[in-house]
Amino acid sequence: MAMRGSCQCGAVAYSLDDRPTQAIECNCSICRRKAHLLAFVSPDKFTLETPRSALSVYTFGRHVIRHQFCSTCGCAPFAEGVGPDGKAMVAVNLRCAEDFDLSTVKVLPYDGASKL
Ligand SMILES: [Zn+2]
Repeated sequence: MAMRGSCQCGAVAYSLDDRPTQAIECNCSICRRKAHLLAFVSPDKFTLETPRSALSVYTFGRHVIRHQFCSTCGCAPFAEGVGPDGKAMVAVNLRCAEDFDLSTVKVLPYDGASKL
């Protein structure tokens, strides 16, 4: 395990095999409201350490991304979906990462608003 992330109350936690080095800051209707800082990882590098029953799911638009959030505290540590290349991916919200210095990550602006 290279890093761990969780919601505020701890009901949702994940671990990653690799430590992300870059993330996107997207301006779409959900990311700008939730202040997501997303790193994309392949599902085989992602382990959900807590029961799925702790999660609620929200989808919108084309419903290709499952926006997961903690049913108790509302934090959104990750989302699951399909990337532009058609492969399954997990979008990890680095703002929920533990012991992680966000200044070490290269943040790339992403114009999601014009793609929805
Ligand atoms: Zn929680």
